[in-house]
Amino acid sequence: MLNKDVVIIGGGPAGLTAGIYLSRAMFDVVLIEKMAHGGQIILTDEIENYPGFPDGIKGQELAEKMVKQAERFGTQLLFDEVTQIEKHKEGYLIRTWGEEILAKGIILASGAVPRKIGVEGEEKFTGRGVSYCATCDGPFFKDKVVTVIGGGDAAVEEGIYLTKHASKVFIMHRRDQLRASKLIQERAFSNEKIEIIWNALPEEIMGEKKVSAIKYKDKLSGDVKIHDTEGVFIFVGYTPASSFIDGKALGINMTDNGYITTEKNGQTTAEGIFAAGDVVEKNLYQVATAVGDGAMAAFNIQKYLEEKNNE
Ligand code: NAP
Repeated sequence: MLNKDVVIIGGGPAGLTAGIYLSRAMFDVVLIEKMAHGGQIILTDEIENYPGFPDGIKGQELAEKMVKQAERFGTQLLFDEVTQIEKHKEGYLIRTWGEEILAKGIILASGAVPRKIGVEGEEKFTGRGVSYCATCDGPFFKDKVVTVIGGGDAAVEEGIYLTKHASKVFIMHRRDQLRASKLIQERAFSNEKIEIIWNALPEEIMGEKKVSAIKYKDKLSGDVKIHDTEGVFIFVGYTPASSFIDGKALGINMTDNGYITTEKNGQTTAEGIFAAGDVVEKNLYQVATAVGDGAMAAFNIQKYLEEKNNE
């Protein structure tokens, strides 16, 4: 069994920042990530609104820099999946598939996963024309027609990115106005390869072996239409990756949607458990806010551990 001061769960910007702060302050920290360190930013082509990079930075590159910085100060990185967190007389017992770790405190920074639209064909064609990551799968659609579903920043930005590969990008949105910020909207409106299908409610993703079309309902006319497309990129928001957390048993308050509620200092309702990043209920989900949350949680868990030590 490993013994640690703090276990950080999740290796996105929030968790990595917490790792940098805690290990730099000489705490013994392990950061557990089940997929790839960097979190959702590695699925993003370009990040333009994170300060310090006036010309923007590739998501993958920013992730690599954050990982390097955490490792430089001694954050131990573990590739594994947390299966259970239990209370223990000395703190918490964190079980993964391969390890048991006893920690005095925890920072939950497990982020969020793409939301599904829940229509017929979505699951069946995932990896066969349906994707949730434009930077990963965009190159497979060179000179093809693709359709993005959604109307927020992610859908429109990723739609713009897809024009690098596809011959035509449709953005299928369920209303008559985009939710994305004005700057991003303007870029899409002025891009000749992008066409928006307004007031469209997706009903089915169709095809034989691969995607060939989307069936949708035109909200205004009520007509059901078939829209031919070889790729369907779904960006309709995210849901928190918190299903491994037994909020009741641990005493962590969570919203009905699975977001963790925290105090301003990042503390959850459970002693010694802090949370940061996209798994937290808040009103702005950005790399900058995730980094801020990570620093805040790290600073305050330090204070908590020091006070505990002095008891
Ligand atoms: P979002 O802002 O919540 O937008 C989700 C979009 O999907 C909305 O347009 C919504 O339609 C649509 N939608 C939701 N459920 C749907 C369904 N079942 N069927 C069809 N359409 C559906 O999510 P997001 O774009 O993923 O962004 C998440 C957060 O990250 C936001 O805070 C965003 O600002 C941020 N973000 C920022 C940047 C940036 O700053 N550059 C880039 C990416 C993401 P309605 O509009 O009708 O609700």
